[in-house]
Amino acid sequence: MKIELAIRLQMSNTSKKYFFKSNRQLIYGIALVIIIPMLVVINSLFLIKRFNKTLTLEQHRQAVLIGQITESFIVEELDSPGTLQTIVEKTIARNSELTDFYISQFSGNEFITIAAVDKERIGTPENGTAAFFAIQSKQSVARRIADSSGQYWEVHYPIIDDARNVIALLTMKFSTEAIDAETSNLIFQSFIILAVIILVIILLLASNTRLFQYAILYRRLQEIDKLKDDFISMASHELRTPITGLRNYFSMLLEGSFGKLTKKTKESIEMMQGNANRLNNLVEDLLNVSRLQQGRMPIQPSNFNVISLLHEVIDSLRATAKEKHVSLTFESIDKKISVFADQNRMRQVLVNIIGNALKYTEKGSVTLFVSSEKGSAVIKIKDTGIGISPESQTHLFEKFYRVINNRTQNIVGTGLGLWITKEILGLMSGKIYIDSIENTGTQVTMTLPLAKPLDKRK
Ligand code: ADP
Repeated sequence: MKIELAIRLQMSNTSKKYFFKSNRQLIYGIALVIIIPMLVVINSLFLIKRFNKTLTLEQHRQAVLIGQITESFIVEELDSPGTLQTIVEKTIARNSELTDFYISQFSGNEFITIAAVDKERIGTPENGTAAFFAIQSKQSVARRIADSSGQYWEVHYPIIDDARNVIALLTMKFSTEAIDAETSNLIFQSFIILAVIILVIILLLASNTRLFQYAILYRRLQEIDKLKDDFISMASHELRTPITGLRNYFSMLLEGSFGKLTKKTKESIEMMQGNANRLNNLVEDLLNVSRLQQGRMPIQPSNFNVISLLHEVIDSLRATAKEKHVSLTFESIDKKISVFADQNRMRQVLVNIIGNALKYTEKGSVTLFVSSEKGSAVIKIKDTGIGISPESQTHLFEKFYRVINNRTQNIVGTGLGLWITKEILGLMSGKIYIDSIENTGTQVTMTLPLAKPLDKRK
């Protein structure tokens, strides 16, 4: 209950953080849908603005050009309004964007229109502010106007005589309709491109949803896996103490510490002791797994004689071999092969591998060989047991893997021994290989680095 509560609390506390952490791809996806279209919009607006500005400048330039070209004729024809009227009409006919054009001449103290597209304007005074500025500054003045007749540019171009007096004023109006139509067209096109981009991104995201789901699932599995490891580690620690207590009591009972036992009671207690030992092995294996997975397996390597260790392990297993009527022998030419490893861990490994050889051998022998080759000590454990099929051999070093068949179903084990052995050997720069022929026997080969010389001086 406590554990469940702790897990729930942990999950709710970290759920927000977890969501952002584990859904990174999803958040990137949403950011893409927002950022890319935003960049496209900014880029389009910028380009449209520049395009508009360029066109406007071009129109202004056109107005000045018309003024410059017509200036000389106009100066010459100021006294013949009929000719000027023809110039105005011809100019307007040639420029489709030019919607209005009139010429005002200085007479008395004001500028009076003497030629105009709109003939009704002829004879009226020019009193617009922009015109006034153009006359005052003696420079062309342009301004953008929007009224009921549409949007246009109005340009006032002063004509100056040799004495730098403004003698006449040209006023032109250019329609911006074409530019505006072009700009709206561009905006429309960029919106279409934008819509297509958003659609493509959404389609991409949709097709990747499965990938996101897998990523989320993978992270969840990792977290559950960690919770499971933590639980196993804690449960094994908690189980260890009562199991040790039980084993001690069984030993004391069998030794007669609480009085003499009948044959039947002794047999029952022995059976219970066997089960308690099995439980103890399982708990020890689980503890080793969690230590190895969390990188907490203590390894204290030193130089030691592996042959002595092999003798010691064989002696401890001799009773088991005798019980099974399996011969247990050790062959070695050398008397001493020093290796650099953790002696206690190596004892654990050897007990496991030689124990397996005895466990999975119904009759025959288990033989050990040791030699030193190319900087390594090579230990071989060969048995004449049930062997392992080629298919099963590929799974041997997987956690909890056990070969299940008629001959193994009554043999107890956890399927953790080989995984633990391989991991521990790896931590000591050692290796393990298994060769086996089903119904013939198995040979396990292990290597360990030879001892490091304490003093390199000869
Ligand atoms: P277990 O606790 O089941 O023995 P191990 O990890 O030590 O777990 O071994 C995994 C499996 O490999 C065993 O279940 C057994 O089927 C097979 N195996 C290991 N050693 C031998 C052997 N010497 N001969 C035949 N089979 C073996």
